[in-house]
Amino acid sequence: MAQQRNSKRQNRSRCTRESRDKKEGYCTKVSCSSKSTKSIKSSVTAEDFLPVTLDDAKKRGWDRVDFVYVSGDAYVDHSSFGAAIITRVLESHGYSVGFIAQPDWKDPQSMTVFGEPRLGFLVASGNMDSMVNHYTVNKKPRSQDAYSPGGKAGMRPNHATAVYSNLIRRTYKRTPIIIGGIEASLRRLAHYDYWSDKLKRSILLDAGADIVVYGMGERSIVEIADALNSGLTIEDITFIDGTVYKARSLDHVYDAVILPTFEDLQVDKLNYAKSFYIQYQNSDPFTGKRLVEQYPHSVYVVQNPPAKPLLPHELDAVYALPYAGTYHPMYEKDGGVPAIKEVKFSLSSSRGCFGECAFCALTFHQGRIVTGRSHESLIAEARRMTQDPDFKGYIHDVGGPTADFRKPACTKQLTHGACKNRRCLAPTPCRQLEVDHSDYIELLRSLRNIKGIKKVFVRSGVRFDYVMLDSDPTFLRELTKYHVSGQLRVAPEHVSDSVLQVMGKPNHAMYEQFVRAFNKDNEACGKKQFVVPYLMSSHPGSTLKDAVELAEYCHNLGFMPEQVQDFYPTPSTISTCMYYTGVDPRTMKPIYVPKTQHEKALQRALIQYRNPQNYDLVIEALQKAGRRDLIGYGPKCLVHPKKEQKSQKRSNKIASQNKCPQAQQKRRTRHS
Ligand code: SF4
Repeated sequence: MAQQRNSKRQNRSRCTRESRDKKEGYCTKVSCSSKSTKSIKSSVTAEDFLPVTLDDAKKRGWDRVDFVYVSGDAYVDHSSFGAAIITRVLESHGYSVGFIAQPDWKDPQSMTVFGEPRLGFLVASGNMDSMVNHYTVNKKPRSQDAYSPGGKAGMRPNHATAVYSNLIRRTYKRTPIIIGGIEASLRRLAHYDYWSDKLKRSILLDAGADIVVYGMGERSIVEIADALNSGLTIEDITFIDGTVYKARSLDHVYDAVILPTFEDLQVDKLNYAKSFYIQYQNSDPFTGKRLVEQYPHSVYVVQNPPAKPLLPHELDAVYALPYAGTYHPMYEKDGGVPAIKEVKFSLSSSRGCFGECAFCALTFHQGRIVTGRSHESLIAEARRMTQDPDFKGYIHDVGGPTADFRKPACTKQLTHGACKNRRCLAPTPCRQLEVDHSDYIELLRSLRNIKGIKKVFVRSGVRFDYVMLDSDPTFLRELTKYHVSGQLRVAPEHVSDSVLQVMGKPNHAMYEQFVRAFNKDNEACGKKQFVVPYLMSSHPGSTLKDAVELAEYCHNLGFMPEQVQDFYPTPSTISTCMYYTGVDPRTMKPIYVPKTQHEKALQRALIQYRNPQNYDLVIEALQKAGRRDLIGYGPKCLVHPKKEQKSQKRSNKIASQNKCPQAQQKRRTRHS
């Protein structure tokens, strides 16, 4: 009976949705290629968003919602926000969703805004891990939060996903809780938590939730919703790719790789390194196996293989959903939500990355298989932007995790996945790698020819080794001529080849080659533009000697970066695993790790050696590295000697002169 009632309600919500969609001209199926005809209105109203109150829901004819989405971010209905995508995808499949943004985590009533949802709660920390959002790499609280109204910090708790989930459980003991987003995804199995400097359990256990959706969640969330809607209990939903669930036994878990137990991980860090690398090698949707991690009291956390990436037309459909395109009007009084500024006039053109930088969690989250949106979809979105009264004619970015990756590294990836034991690009490119920028060139040409668009910038990083491997120079030429705003930011990250090797980046010579090619193209088109390198200090493998080499490089260039990225051990990257375990999980060989805050500060200071605040640290670093030759007045010196030392030297000199009989004689002669 209950099920029939539910299904009637479900049908009603589908009908309402479908008729509204027909009226507005949306295609609502993720699986179909669709073009939204929605134009951006001069101002949005609350009706353009999913309900944030029960009254909003009732206005839509919903006396109860199917899902309640709880987010640590303010509510921004834009396709750059995972929360917006998941809720709109569910809506497009006929499910009603209410949205609770940044609830008061001390008050269980904050989770009861819509009452008990018919199918479950969906919980995420927001677009960032809540700890990265709250703290700098020095573990100091950040003063601002771009994802909160008015940029105000402190609007969500630490470990937001687990806190919200536990808060829901205080009121709703049996309602399914599904957690997702970057925080849940990267903490899906046991992981190192930099902030507490401890190994933590799977977030599924700490959150008391039922399922984690990891990676790109569109497919998985719809399958979960359909399964719940068909009457399955949450405990029965153990079969969906891209999910993690709990089990009390392994009787019904097939073809699984058994990882070291949580107790084993706690006993020996090397077990964690081994476990992490098995997980890393099983992050491909074609070859990834089911993984099991055992906890005390016969609790098993089971990770199903990753979900397949969306096909280009499915990705188009996701981006064509009826997003309001901005933050909810309830934040207007606070001055809006700052994060929208970066993305409002930018185009997300792709997902996935085969670059495999060791410090980046993308392989673990989005995977190595790149999917690009179609030109039609991107052009349609750009045209819609031109109708926005705030649009000044500039598209700020057309990119993705790596701007110039628009298609898979090789055709094999689409049927057999990415290789487990081979890398596509660095340190040496795979022979199967297909280097081709023609699609991206065409896309950028089409975008800059749209009426109303003055300039199209590329601000997402381009992978410069991929650019250099292209025998056709057209991409770099056109990038330089049309798509750079004075400075092209790229990410060589370091200059020491041994550090670059650990990072999974191309060697330094490749970067130099790129800079020369870029400068040549600038000269040819009569522009004065510069490459600005992103540099990272204190990455595992980087000794003080390497940091000095980087500082010397900056000195020779006459360049002092305004910002230096101090390596930040965020959850579930290869580099974080190195930081925690002291070995490279890919080889299990020991690796040098700058671990203390002081050594990190020394390495960071070296890159910004000209900053007077860093003076003492630079002197200390150079002394420790045995490079006193760089303290002085010569052209190669990074800093001058200490003033006290200088004056000390002078007084020593005077004292010794006073003792010297010839000097005393000389002085007497001069005075007489
Ligand atoms: S064959 Fe080469 S390019 Fe293709 S997935 Fe394997 S390593 Fe990457």
